[in-house]
Amino acid sequence: HYGFRIVEDMIDGLSNWMDEKGFETIADVTGRAIPNFVNWNQLNLKFKTLASIDQDACIKCGLCYIACEDTSHQAISKTLLNGERHYEVIDEECVGCNLCAHVCPVDDCITMVPQPVEGVQTWNEHPNNPMCKIPAKAG
Ligand code: SF4
Ligand code: SF4
Repeated sequence: HYGFRIVEDMIDGLSNWMDEKGFETIADVTGRAIPNFVNWNQLNLKFKTLASIDQDACIKCGLCYIACEDTSHQAISKTLLNGERHYEVIDEECVGCNLCAHVCPVDDCITMVPQPVEGVQTWNEHPNNPMCKIPAKAG
């Protein structure tokens, strides 16, 4: 029974999403992601996003803080500001995992902001790759 509920929720979710985006049939969406496909080892590993909280939209529920604290990189600080709870992203700690944006109950309150990228480094060139094509610098 539980399995059915999950499938029903997935159907609801897909149906709502299609209504929202104006798609009428499954054929309208089939294959649309394919032009975006690249082999994973061609992705630029220097690409980075940081979470950003819209303080005016934030309702101070703390869900983002708990999610990041317990499951990610402890990259959201919790303080008191003018007697109110205040949540702020610690840029140096944020790994751009997106989790806080998913749990935030307010639409568009947390956005993931792409950071300026300097150059390209794919997995083929990455020093963590044991098959790296570029020799590590001595010293
Ligand atoms: S994107 Fe991930 S690491 Fe960054 S603040 Fe949100 S949950 Fe934490
Ligand atoms: S989850 Fe969203 S609304 Fe709640 S404290 Fe974090 S940023 Fe604010």
